[in-house]
Amino acid sequence: MQDEQLQRVQAAYGVENWSAGYFEVGPEGTILVRPARGDSRSVDLKKIIDELIRDRKVQTPLLLRFPQILTNQLRILAHSYQRAMTEYGFQGTHFPVFPMKVNPRREVIEEFLRDSARCRVGLECGSKAELYAAVAQTQAEESLLICNGFKDAEFIELALLAVQSGKRVVVVVEKLSELRLIIQYAEQTGVVPWIGLRAKLYSRGSGKWAASGGDAAKFGLTTSEILDCVRLLKAHRLEGQLKLLHSHIGSQITDIKRVKNAIKEAARVYAKLRLMGSTIEYMDIGGGLGVDYDGSKTRSESSMNYGVQEFANDVIYTIKAVCDEEGVPHPNVVTESGRMMTAYHAVCITSIRDEIETFAEDVPEVQIDADDPQVISELKELCDHITGKNYVEYYHDAQEHKDSLHTQFNLGLISLEDRAKGEVLFWEICARALHHSEDERFPAEEFADLKKILAAKYLCNFSLFRSAPDSWAIRQLFPIVPIHRLNEPMTDYATLVDVTCDSDGKIDHFIDLRDDKETLEIHKWEPGQAYFLGIFLVGAYQEVMGSFHNLFGLPDEAHIAIDDAGRYHVTKIIAGSRIADMVSFARYDKGQLQDLYRQHLDARVEAGRLTREAADALAEEYVKAAQGVTYLSRTGL
Ligand SMILES: *Cc1c(COP(=O)(O)O)cnc(C)c1O
Repeated sequence: MQDEQLQRVQAAYGVENWSAGYFEVGPEGTILVRPARGDSRSVDLKKIIDELIRDRKVQTPLLLRFPQILTNQLRILAHSYQRAMTEYGFQGTHFPVFPMKVNPRREVIEEFLRDSARCRVGLECGSKAELYAAVAQTQAEESLLICNGFKDAEFIELALLAVQSGKRVVVVVEKLSELRLIIQYAEQTGVVPWIGLRAKLYSRGSGKWAASGGDAAKFGLTTSEILDCVRLLKAHRLEGQLKLLHSHIGSQITDIKRVKNAIKEAARVYAKLRLMGSTIEYMDIGGGLGVDYDGSKTRSESSMNYGVQEFANDVIYTIKAVCDEEGVPHPNVVTESGRMMTAYHAVCITSIRDEIETFAEDVPEVQIDADDPQVISELKELCDHITGKNYVEYYHDAQEHKDSLHTQFNLGLISLEDRAKGEVLFWEICARALHHSEDERFPAEEFADLKKILAAKYLCNFSLFRSAPDSWAIRQLFPIVPIHRLNEPMTDYATLVDVTCDSDGKIDHFIDLRDDKETLEIHKWEPGQAYFLGIFLVGAYQEVMGSFHNLFGLPDEAHIAIDDAGRYHVTKIIAGSRIADMVSFARYDKGQLQDLYRQHLDARVEAGRLTREAADALAEEYVKAAQGVTYLSRTGL
């Protein structure tokens, strides 16, 4: 690929800014995937997709999972803390736990726990269902099972089941009433988990989840409640079970300063509790370690102004400084980073299926007849004489004429044909005006809007609500890149719409180093052509938060591993939801629907409006349709 084209691709999609070394643009204009940054092995994403669609009968939307990336992110996290601890002479040990709410899928959990002994990785759960799954997993002996969230008696009973199977369970107390329950069980059964206290910090995070910290936070104990807990434990001679101090100031912290402030405060609480004679050994700092979705390395909401190593250094240095000053031992440090560990490992592949027209393209040049209304001839005049000098003024004039065209149409003064002619002329003027504005260094704001209106709107085979819900819910940005043809010039601009019947099912904000942009550079697309786009970094939160809006189901899924020789292997294929699955999700019974349909047909046969054979054939077709996919189906795309 030529340098110049590579630069254009880099400017348009910024792959090397956000990919953390896992994805890059290859010499053939396709996206390559590596199991780790700097790893010599790479595989071609387009080749994988082609094979999957050709030989494995899957289709878009397609969720690709690279389990090796999960393991590598865990290693990066563990190494970063190890390095920081060594550098600062820190006495404690790092215990990573994976928060299940970020991605509770079995394959994800199993992949992390495979490496459990090496990194002492454990799990964090915030609900009974998560805990139920966690209880039966195999973890390294010293690794932790942390129970967060609001707990009822059943939650605590589940935690005690885990204790009795030999797990190191820490029940983190959010409310005093939870501690009373734990103590009650302890006295009845003699089984006691380790106990943690979640502190409500005065410090706040930054970014979208800043409200998770601070005085008004939903979670955590106030200072006086913490002291009440300590007294209550003492009164029941259970103070030795108090092992952990927990805090979490929110996800995707964009500003490293906030981390330091929060850790300083939490470390001080730890130190003061130790000075009061508490046996707390672990400081759990929660999650919050960000992912640089737009690659800008800034405090903007989809980015962060630090790296993993800097985060770890600041955490460890700050804890050590406070502990040394207070003269207490360094704690073991528990981290609950989930976003950082999972975001990179999953890619959603979609394909363009159609174009939604804003205006007619490729229409023959408009001919003016003598009896055309004046507004048409004036538009034609503007269209023929627009130049780089007058385009702003002509564009404004054209807008006025278009308004008057529609007013006259509504009054019945203009025919449908004339209205069509006027609209074609208007959009042609817009396209020419936009073209002229692009020659200017600082075009007026209104031409940015025009660019968005004139951009192609491509219908892509996926549901935003299923595959990238945060793009809709909180306007988070995800990198979106064509996974092939990157050696060809990108001549078009586009926004993307999904296949749901929801006008919010669209993507019209894209990553950019400065701010964000409203259109995506894209290649010329022709109907019937295969054109694949990757929505990257969707491995954290998106799968579990995704919904079945419009009864579009789970996409097909494929797991890919890269072997030592650099070849890829499809290790697992999971077929996406069928129509039958989705109707039963909405509580229909497939058999009953088929019976009911049959009854409608029988009535028609009875009335002599359908033959028995035709009715049988229709009934069979209806039965068969239940096995269809929920998304647009067409082989090869
Ligand atoms: C959500 C959550 C996490 C995960 O946070 P990330 O920012 O995804 O790392 C960790 N701990 C608790 C208590 C949480 O609620």
